[in-house]
Amino acid sequence: MSKVSVQINKVYDLNEISKSVEFHFSQFDLYNKIKPEQKVLIKPNLLMKRTPEEFTTTHPYLVEAVIVELNKIGVKNIVVADSPGGMYTKQALKGIYDASGMTKVCEKYDNVELNFTTTFEDVHNENGKLVKSFPLITPVVNADFIIDVCKLKTHAMTGLSGGVKNLFGTIPGLTKPEFHWRFPEKEKFCNMLVDLCETVKPNFILVDAIHAMEGDGPSGGTKKECGLTIASDNPYELDLSLCHLIGVDSDKILTVKSSIERGLCCKTLEEIEFVGEELKPQNFEIPQDKTIDFVGHIPQPLKKISKVLIDKFFTSKPKIRTKECVGCGKCAESCPAKTISIIDRKAHIDYKNCISCFCCHEMCPIKVIDIKRSKLFKK
Ligand code: SF4
Ligand code: SF4
Repeated sequence: MSKVSVQINKVYDLNEISKSVEFHFSQFDLYNKIKPEQKVLIKPNLLMKRTPEEFTTTHPYLVEAVIVELNKIGVKNIVVADSPGGMYTKQALKGIYDASGMTKVCEKYDNVELNFTTTFEDVHNENGKLVKSFPLITPVVNADFIIDVCKLKTHAMTGLSGGVKNLFGTIPGLTKPEFHWRFPEKEKFCNMLVDLCETVKPNFILVDAIHAMEGDGPSGGTKKECGLTIASDNPYELDLSLCHLIGVDSDKILTVKSSIERGLCCKTLEEIEFVGEELKPQNFEIPQDKTIDFVGHIPQPLKKISKVLIDKFFTSKPKIRTKECVGCGKCAESCPAKTISIIDRKAHIDYKNCISCFCCHEMCPIKVIDIKRSKLFKK
């Protein structure tokens, strides 16, 4: 039977988090499964240059608590690595590591390396449904054991950012927007993420759900004091449990739906053994993009005709609060459709090429890109 482990952690207290991580490790027998000579990768969610108090990135105490447990096993070679949004350069990584608190944590331990290598390799997975080869950052390729330490957030495009979505950061820098461009529809994009997860194959997933994000995640939402750490060795069943926690039908989270269809995930929560604390729903505020629901209700013959109208009138689009824009260009850099221009230090979107991927919304450092919803779908 599949297992998900739940612990209460109301605040970011390193000692308390360490006790919980020790519990999670023991539930999945990691003290025997991980060997001292293995190279262990810790993959946090570092999305962008934000401090831990901005509840966008994995809190450094979760990473430190994992390091403490790995040190009990005697692991000599631990790497902390992520490819956040934007450029994958040493300079960009340094800014994000410093702001997120990763530098401070990793400097404390001689056996922990914070990754600054910006190389990557193509990794093949014959079983991929949409993608059979992914470029993956070198520390992922070289790891013997991968610990995915994600942040629980709602997500404007995929609905949920948990164990599976966090792995999008194993693809180097600006190659990520290319995947948005290749798979502009949510269903295909989420299927691609499942292919990616099957390629990376994380061995253990730990969720920072102490202060999670709800609403317009993964960067523009509000704080949700969820007070939990959650773990599993199955990323799909972990995400299925997170659907229950955030109060969303798992059919609506297309990575979970796809993993169930592929037989990678059990169909119901009843098939999961929960250990530790009870996982009670906390009803998160969810991004309100209802495009897919709407399309689903149109009779088949009308669907093609409607596509143009749907794109024009019903699909959510990004909207820049131009007066507040500082012209930094992060949105244009991340736009897979290359449809954002910076003119006179202000960003402008040419909507005719926009694929509503919300990378711009995700990457704007000062949160001045809103998600504009159709009036028909406003509450
Ligand atoms: S403008 Fe924003 S939402 Fe539209 S394609 Fe570019 S990054 Fe994606
Ligand atoms: S919208 Fe945001 S990301 Fe884009 S240029 Fe303006 S401030 Fe920078």
